[in-house]
Amino acid sequence: MTRLSAHDAIIIGAGPAGTSVALTLARRGWAVAIVEKSAFPRRKVCGEYISASNLALLDQLEIGEAWRANAGPEIRRVGFFSGETRVEAPMPHAIDGPRVERGPLAKDGPLANDGRSTNDGPGAKDGFGRALGRDIFDCLLLQAARSAGVEIFQPCRAVAIDPDGEAQLVRIQAGNETTILRAPVIVAAHGSWEPGPLPSQLGKTNRPSDLFGFKAHFTGSSLAPDLMPLLVLPGGYGGMVSADHGRLSISCCIRRDMLARLRKHPRHQSHLSAAEAVSRHLIESCRGVRDALESADADGPWLAAGPIRPGIRSCYERDIFRVGNAAGESHPVIAEGISMALQSGWLLASELSHVPSGRAGRETAGRRYEAAWKRLFSTRVYAAAVLAGIAVSPGSAAWMATIVRNFPQALTLGAQLSGKTKPVPGFV
Ligand SMILES: Cc1cc2nc3c(=O)[nH]c(=O)nc-3n(C[C@H](O)[C@H](O)[C@H](O)COP(=O)(O)OP(=O)(O)OC[C@H]3O[C@@H](n4cnc5c(N)ncnc54)[C@H](O)[C@@H]3O)c2cc1C
Repeated sequence: MTRLSAHDAIIIGAGPAGTSVALTLARRGWAVAIVEKSAFPRRKVCGEYISASNLALLDQLEIGEAWRANAGPEIRRVGFFSGETRVEAPMPHAIDGPRVERGPLAKDGPLANDGRSTNDGPGAKDGFGRALGRDIFDCLLLQAARSAGVEIFQPCRAVAIDPDGEAQLVRIQAGNETTILRAPVIVAAHGSWEPGPLPSQLGKTNRPSDLFGFKAHFTGSSLAPDLMPLLVLPGGYGGMVSADHGRLSISCCIRRDMLARLRKHPRHQSHLSAAEAVSRHLIESCRGVRDALESADADGPWLAAGPIRPGIRSCYERDIFRVGNAAGESHPVIAEGISMALQSGWLLASELSHVPSGRAGRETAGRRYEAAWKRLFSTRVYAAAVLAGIAVSPGSAAWMATIVRNFPQALTLGAQLSGKTKPVPGFV
């Protein structure tokens, strides 16, 4: 066993939440370590859409330009695909970005290869979200953290956290090798979909209503590059979006009981794999998906994760801070998890920078961070829970389709309620 020198903070997990807090603290002079169990680049179950409201924060983290250079086309329309229904409406413009004045020419103007309107002037910048594969995005963030001086332990799994006087010890494992790290500030940024031995990890769940997440990339899709449709399916929901390098990112959540039924569909002799069952379900139950994938090719296998754990949890417990999904998670139906991860990391780092060191200072930071977290995210967590509850209830797809056919503006309003235009405090 190796014992290493102390850090000011140890961050467990290098998703957007972990790297956001690590980068911010490191740039403020803290000695920071990140522990990440997976080797990067790695693909991840995620729709990969990032709202434009994050751009100022990405600039602050010094990866804004790299994100702009790599991400897919601007998403200017939100859609609803269910059964035979297809409805589209404008995506709201991020209120913290400069307004895009779009004349009649701009409205129907030609699209560049990447889907961005060729009529966009400089003022159009950053008004709309875009999607970037997590295999690229998470690497950009981690690379920036490394450049800011963060010490990275990867691939290494954190397996225990124990108090040690004024500080805490984190035991990390790489194969058979165990190392002990020590720091006063411990941040759990390990997500919420995997149970594990850490006090901040969630226990197992096994309910018929549990939702499993699935995702795949395709190339050659015919989905309009500026459109992100919500998919409402029997027993689940999902989304599609054009991401970087011509890739389509399609992702969905399916109830445990529906998944079991799909896997032993009477038309198929033996049990299907979960991925195969989900892919068939998407294509058979939704015309919009069928059309979009008609001449598309899979780019890699389907990935699965979960069950997912939407809800609001504690932000600071047993002297461990939590960011991203570990602190709380909205149903992916609103595609805001990356925003909440990045922004919660930033919020925590801001609070930690303003309090004295020591346990009392950490408790103050914990209280202030939790209050800020709830102010910023509670509404979207509740709004997403209502929308997801409706989307997965039997028979709801038909009346949802009737509503959005008659009031397509409901889609624009829904995108607004989900936080897509809500500025990050400190960047208004
Ligand atoms: C189907 C689906 C679609 C989605 N679509 C979108 C979308 O379009 N837009 C959006 O904004 N959000 C979306 N989300 C949500 C988004 O993926 C998550 O909210 C986001 O990834 C959370 O980020 P995080 O940093 O908290 O955790 P994660 O991204 O899960 O990162 C956690 C990291 O911690 C590491 N880790 C875990 N345990 C340990 C350990 N013990 N030791 C060391 N490392 C560890 C993991 O390997 C991982 O890299 C979607 C989710 C699902 C299920």
